[in-house]
Amino acid sequence: MELAKNTLYVVTTPIGNLSDLTPRALEVLEKVDFVAAEDTRVGGSLLAHFGIKKPLVSYYEHNKRERGEMIIARILEGESCALISDAGTPAISDPGEDLAKLCVERGVKVSPIPGVSALITALSASGMPSGRFCFEGFLSMSKKSRREHLSDLVGERRTMIFYEAPHKLRATLDDFYKTFGDRKIVLARELTKLHEEFIHTTLSGAIEYYKDVNPKGEFVLILEGDTSPREAPMSRNERYRQKLAEKRAAEEEE
Ligand code: SAM
Repeated sequence: MELAKNTLYVVTTPIGNLSDLTPRALEVLEKVDFVAAEDTRVGGSLLAHFGIKKPLVSYYEHNKRERGEMIIARILEGESCALISDAGTPAISDPGEDLAKLCVERGVKVSPIPGVSALITALSASGMPSGRFCFEGFLSMSKKSRREHLSDLVGERRTMIFYEAPHKLRATLDDFYKTFGDRKIVLARELTKLHEEFIHTTLSGAIEYYKDVNPKGEFVLILEGDTSPREAPMSRNERYRQKLAEKRAAEEEE
């Protein structure tokens, strides 16, 4: 495969099992001029595992502004760059999103090298409805925006997918229960790794389970959408009668 110059390759890496790196991803990593990694230690050991020697630059939350400009300048000068994140598909709930956006804004070609993503991996084996789903990423740390995020989802009928860190899992399950009441949830843990686990339960069941068990590892949470029956829409006659009743009530008040 001939690699294009002046291109940002968004290269997906494994989320646990290194055999999930695709042959095409391997080839691109071997051929690009340099690699932009969320964490150069993580990126470096991945490249070392596959025997690839390549200049690495870091690109993460706190240097993404100036580093993004530097990466784009190099690409515009004729180099090709592979963007990798710590795991999975870059730009999905990680800072790669900003680099892809900047490249698009500057007219730089962005080419995806697809592979595993934690959310799709979890959903595909969860047994939850997957015809329509929404990905909600991480909940915010701030109580206010967390509450707003969750209240926006009340009444959401699609399956909802969240990323969560183990130390915040218990609080998140409590917040889900307070917002949505009891409903089905699948906790997909340590996907593609030795201790991969799918816990099929309810919110109350998960809260109870994690009272005694310490949450460990990485989690994707798959929450059932609202399954309550929809209210039947009003007929024209009913709407007319309701309007009339509201008008009369208003007139009586005057
Ligand atoms: N861009 C990545 C993707 O979608 O493939 C996800 C990056 S995000 C910063 C990291 C989160 O993805 C973790 O906190 C966890 O929620 C989820 N995750 C990543 N690897 C996982 C795994 N092996 N098992 C379960 N969840 C995982």
